[in-house]
Parts: sequence; structure tokens; C-alpha cells
Amino acid sequence: MSAVARKVDDATREAAGDGLHAEMRGVTRVYPGGIHALAATDLRLRRGEFYSVIGPSGCGKSTLLDVLSGLSKPTGGEVLFEGRPLDGRVPEGVGVVFQEDASFAWLNVADNITFGLRRNGVDAAEIARRLDHALRLMGLVDFATAYPAQLSGGMRQRVCIARTLVMQPRMILLDEPFGALDAQTRLVMGDELLKVWRATGATVLLITHALDEAAMLSDRIGVMSARPGHIIEELETNWPRERDSRIAADPAFGAITARLWTLLREESLKTLQQSKPSQGKPS
Ligand code: ADP
Repeated sequence: MSAVARKVDDATREAAGDGLHAEMRGVTRVYPGGIHALAATDLRLRRGEFYSVIGPSGCGKSTLLDVLSGLSKPTGGEVLFEGRPLDGRVPEGVGVVFQEDASFAWLNVADNITFGLRRNGVDAAEIARRLDHALRLMGLVDFATAYPAQLSGGMRQRVCIARTLVMQPRMILLDEPFGALDAQTRLVMGDELLKVWRATGATVLLITHALDEAAMLSDRIGVMSARPGHIIEELETNWPRERDSRIAADPAFGAITARLWTLLREESLKTLQQSKPSQGKPS
């Protein structure tokens, strides 16, 4: 077990129940103005699993992540992390990574990565230790003194992941983290993410619109309906823990992506119908 996982105290572990790490129970989210983003959504994340969420554009994927992380409050229902209801904040132990490059342009890579630790008053030796670990894990050792503008999009996204990692999250939520990257870089970043997942023992929830990404990275995939979104089907991949993008050559990969595509196509067509102007008859 990793040091990160050991940090979870026994009482919390017991409260979390057998293997359950985070849970959404009948969660709904209606935005001001009346947009119904999430229908009653149930989600149970097992401790240490890699779970991806796919769904048509605008179905509520980011909303689900915002509510699960504590960034946004649900309109109804309940969200629990390690057995405790969220209290309107992102709980200690939860890290979030977004698609957009969130690095600070005026700080070098090392200062970007350690920003949160310094703000939290973590002592210098511990900061150095965590920085060293994150730089190694994300392949950034030679870039510690570089500035974001000197890096490619993929490298900048590594910096953002490293910045989350040094906070030692037990659950990492990622919202389309590779969405802005080209196909080859996305593949490499997917493999990096699997390494991070194995090295930290963290539970990972990945929001993605890419079926192949979901199919090759995940233990389980939740498919969302058209808006108002909820999870309509969960697929278990049964991939070994030691895996990388080469798993795409496995015959099972084709079967998984085919099933995902069937579900997603149906829901995407519904989304298209929703976005058509109403066909009211002229009076
Ligand atoms: P996805 O991530 O699946 O593309 P989102 O969760 O971003 O979907 O959005 C779901 C729906 O809620 C969309 O129709 C979107 O326009 C709407 N929405 C998202 N954020 C807000 C907001 N802050 N205020 C009003 N509507 C929002």
C-alpha cells in the first residue's frame, strides 16, 4: 500500500464501507435559469479504481465532476467522500485537473508545482521531497526551471497534473485533461496517467469524450444519457492493472468501444434533437 493510501485513518476507512471511496446518491443539478444538467444520478466509485465517464456533449459530465469534487453544490441528493457528506468545499484528499492549461505563466515549473504546498505552509524539506517525486513521475526533471511558455501543451498539462499530485490526493478527478492535445500526445499522456494511478493508489475519475481513451485506460466506464444526464450503463473492462495503450490491440478493446459507440450514438442523436429549434406550427 502506498504512503498516500496509508494516510487514510481507520475510522474513515470503516465509514467508507467495503471498498467504496466516493458516492453520489440521487444527485441532481439545476442551474440558475432552469437548465437541468443532471437528472437523479447515482455513482459509486470503488477505492483505487480507474473510472471514466463518457457522454454526449453538454450532457452534464463537467457538472458531475464539479459536484463530485465539491466545487459546486448539488440541487438535490447527496455526495459522500470516504463516508462523509461534502460540506460545500473540495475535501482534503481530493485533487482536480482541468482541460485548460491552468499553469501560472510567471512561475517556473518547480514553483508552479509547489504553489499549493507553499500556500499551505508545508515545510521546505517536505516540499523538496514531494517536488522531486512529482518531477520524476511526470518526466519533468529536466524542466524544473523552465517557464510554461517554453513548454508544449502536453508538458504544461504534466505540470498541472504534478501540481495536483504533490497535494497527495487519494482521489483525482480529471475533466477532459487531454482534450486540447493532439492524438499522439493524448496516447502518451494516457499512459502517464496510468503510471500515476498505479504509483499513487489513488481513485481516478476521468471525464472524456474520447471512446478509445475511456476504453483503454479504465477499469470501469460510465456512459451518460443526453441532458439531463445520468449514468445509463456501466461497463467493466477487466483489464490487468499493469496496462498501457497497447491494450488497444486486444480483441476485447474492439468489443468495448463498439458497445460504447452504440450507447453514445443513441444519446448523441437525442442531444441533436434537443438542440434543433422547436418545430411549432405557424398559427
Ligand atoms: P458536458 O461537460 O457534458 O459538456 P456540462 O456539465 O458542461 O456538460 O453542461 C451541462 C449543461 O449545463 C449544458 O447545457 C450547459 O450549457 C449547462 N451549464 C453548464 N454550466 C452552466 C452554468 N454555470 N450556468 C448555466 N448553465 C450551465
